[in-house]
Amino acid sequence: MKITVIYKNTIAIIIVILLTASLDAQTVTFTHQDTLRGSVTPERAWWDLKYYHLDITVNPADSTIKGTNTVTYKVIRPFGKMQIDLQEPMILNSATIDNRQLKFNREGNVYWIEIERKQIVGEINSIVLSFGGKPKVSTRPPWVGGITWKKDKNGNPFIASACQGDGASLWWPCKDHMYDEPDSMLISVNVPDNLMDVSNGRLRNVESKPDKTKTYNWFVSNPINNYGVNINIGDYVHFSEVYKGERGKLDCDYYVLRDNLEKAKEQFRQVPMMLAAFEYWFGPYPFYDDGYKLVEAPYLGMEHQSSVTYGNGFKNGYLGTDLSRTGWGLKFDFIIVHESGHEWFANSITYKDVADMWVHESFTNYSENLYVEYHYGKEAGSEYVIGCRRNIKNDRPIIGKYDVNKSGSGDMYYKGGSMLHTIRQIINDDGKWRGILRGLNRDFYHQVVTGEQIENYLIEKTGMNLTSVFDQYLRDSRLPDFEYYIQDNLLTYRYNNCIETFDMPLKIFINGNVIDITPKTTFSSMKLDDGIDEIKVDSGYYVNTVKIKVR
Ligand SMILES: [Zn+2]
Repeated sequence: MKITVIYKNTIAIIIVILLTASLDAQTVTFTHQDTLRGSVTPERAWWDLKYYHLDITVNPADSTIKGTNTVTYKVIRPFGKMQIDLQEPMILNSATIDNRQLKFNREGNVYWIEIERKQIVGEINSIVLSFGGKPKVSTRPPWVGGITWKKDKNGNPFIASACQGDGASLWWPCKDHMYDEPDSMLISVNVPDNLMDVSNGRLRNVESKPDKTKTYNWFVSNPINNYGVNINIGDYVHFSEVYKGERGKLDCDYYVLRDNLEKAKEQFRQVPMMLAAFEYWFGPYPFYDDGYKLVEAPYLGMEHQSSVTYGNGFKNGYLGTDLSRTGWGLKFDFIIVHESGHEWFANSITYKDVADMWVHESFTNYSENLYVEYHYGKEAGSEYVIGCRRNIKNDRPIIGKYDVNKSGSGDMYYKGGSMLHTIRQIINDDGKWRGILRGLNRDFYHQVVTGEQIENYLIEKTGMNLTSVFDQYLRDSRLPDFEYYIQDNLLTYRYNNCIETFDMPLKIFINGNVIDITPKTTFSSMKLDDGIDEIKVDSGYYVNTVKIKVR
């Protein structure tokens, strides 16, 4: 008997140990390197980024990148040490100011550069960083950052960068934190002369070199975030059109592999449709002076600023599938619509910390249904966003961890989109809602923001206390239950499976009549007419409806 008890206890202990071990495996630990990458360190904070000239040679023969990045900065306060990020295995060869070599040492993915010359507040200085190496190859672009070295069907190199999350320092030395953007940037890319590079902004000129190479000089005349900077190298052909938009003429330029020209000319007719929908909902395209480009890439796609990359196979849907399973997802090319939506939410309004990535993805996911609504009607858009709820996991909070470069749950896409759709139902005034979306793009135009700023803006402009809505949908992983029962002509209801303070207004239908209620986590009751034993919750609200058994 005693032996059995001991045996049982041992089993229990083993189970506890196993559980603890598996919990530990799920608990992410952050390193000093994560803090250096994800926070505004003193070695970053003292200088304000003004301008980058990234000047590189890309060699397809040995998969190397080498060159310089000239960083022009303004001194905010005097400080002797500069943090420059460049990830292994890339190597910083030298750092100079006014041709004088500076001392530096490496700590993982960070270079600490000793600035010898006295830094005077307000002064503008330039540091030239010389670097090279074989940058990390992406195993799963664009989700895993790195360079993709592929060949097209004719055997020509087809090369591209993608580095959201991992960071631009994966392939070039920079201040790899989203809080600071250069005011403008020149990207010079030298490639074999049978190939072309397409980067961000406008093509200023092409220089032919004696060694059978060409340098493409692309100038970005607006602030640009790190991961937005990109190279796309291939045997491209070009076509273009001018879109008459809210701010006048917008140059739209398209670059695709030679063999895909006819398919692209057909598929990219959705670009003006996208621009019409998004200018209506969000306001003018945010980069008229840099133009809009859609560039074929050897992976699915990415929101590179004014140089949206495209690899959706010239088909509608997401690689031909409908993420909403309503049919509406096959009415448009997911990559053209979603990645271009990011020009407003990601490139113009940019998160300061990737923990707030919902500012990019929730609004852009939401933009898909606004596109559907603009072209196919309000009911269609609503069906699309509700259909996309099947992709929600409710696994972790949408907001990630601050200051360590850690994004939150993938629910930032569909759940975030559904949260915004829910807020629209609460406001119940489409004109006002559109005004708020356009207002966001006006008031945070070309700015780096925190998620909290966006929350506060929505609270202020709607005039509604949405605090518990944001706390529930962004900071908690659970989907709230709306619980109710009907007994003796009395409807009794509450929210459950949610934060204590959750009190989101809700629309319900009783006998076909719309009733506005504000459930709380404690029970409330209302009197019903005789014979009613069913109610319906407005499907525009993202809650789970549970009819509970009468006690
Ligand atoms: Zn996205």
